[in-house]
Amino acid sequence: MTLGQFTRFPAKFRDREESINYVVLTNINYSVEEDKIVVTSQTESGYQQEIEILDNKISLRSPCKVYCDCESFKYEFSHAVFKQNSLLHPFKLLRSVISRPKIKNPYNIPSPCKHIARLAREALKIKLK
Ligand SMILES: [Zn+2]
Repeated sequence: MTLGQFTRFPAKFRDREESINYVVLTNINYSVEEDKIVVTSQTESGYQQEIEILDNKISLRSPCKVYCDCESFKYEFSHAVFKQNSLLHPFKLLRSVISRPKIKNPYNIPSPCKHIARLAREALKIKLK
């Protein structure tokens, strides 16, 4: 999946779009590595986010992998994101990776949680040196 796809909720979850604006992220950091750019953050309540951009620049079309340890991402979206081969640290979410979220996301639509969506937007503002 691309960074652009992680900046917003898909149509099915559009009613959550507003919630992205209220997310407060602290400690937004990034590191440029040989074949990827890693962007991390956390929320005030302690959830950790990570986006691995598999590109030498940060653009809407950059392919990436994501992770957040909040309940929403774990129980609703991580399975679908895993199926798209865009889940970071699948071993930390092994139960979600194995079983489909039949009730919480019956059509298994890949989506960010609000934290990942916010971090993806912040990542697009980073000016690489
Ligand atoms: Zn989250």
